[in-house]
Amino acid sequence: MRGFVLSTARVRDEDLIVRILTKDEVLTLYRFYGARHSYINVGYHIDFVVEESAKATIKRLRNVIQLPFPFLLDFQKMLNFKIFVGLLNKHLSDVTKIDEFYYNLLVDITKNMQNREPKRLLIESYVKLLEKEGRLHKEFECFLCEREIEGKVALARAFLPAHERCIYEKGFAKEKIKDLFENKKTLLFSDEEIDRLWKIMNLGM
Ligand SMILES: [Zn+2]
Repeated sequence: MRGFVLSTARVRDEDLIVRILTKDEVLTLYRFYGARHSYINVGYHIDFVVEESAKATIKRLRNVIQLPFPFLLDFQKMLNFKIFVGLLNKHLSDVTKIDEFYYNLLVDITKNMQNREPKRLLIESYVKLLEKEGRLHKEFECFLCEREIEGKVALARAFLPAHERCIYEKGFAKEKIKDLFENKKTLLFSDEEIDRLWKIMNLGM
């Protein structure tokens, strides 16, 4: 079975509770420590075996093999990817059965990251997630005052459109947000704007 490590939590001395996103499930598994075992970290793509245990309530994680992707040794790209996976983990905290969209989204990111600026790729991926969940608001109506947004579009948590004056935040040109929401492209944004979008995404998926 294959999946992405969403989180790890140390228990006892060296054992781990590991949450893994697979194509159709979010699994919580127990991994016993062993010196021969490969290192497991958030964001890793792994091949593994789930072992049923008659005694324990939690199944065991076994035979872990890390599936490498090209940017594993690129510190900045890996850091941004881990932040994205961490946000996704919180977003999926109550989930067990899941649509394959999420696993495929992470696979696509690992395929495309090598040739992309990481924050831009991850913001575009986040917008795809919002659309998939029916939470992408393309109509440019302020979520606070419910009036149309004529000028610049400010974005609140979950990229909810608002007037600059309603949420006291600097906005973005409407054409740029339109291109992002409709075409999932960040091409028009400056690096400073990408940093602002990144911070908004970090408020929570
Ligand atoms: Zn408003």
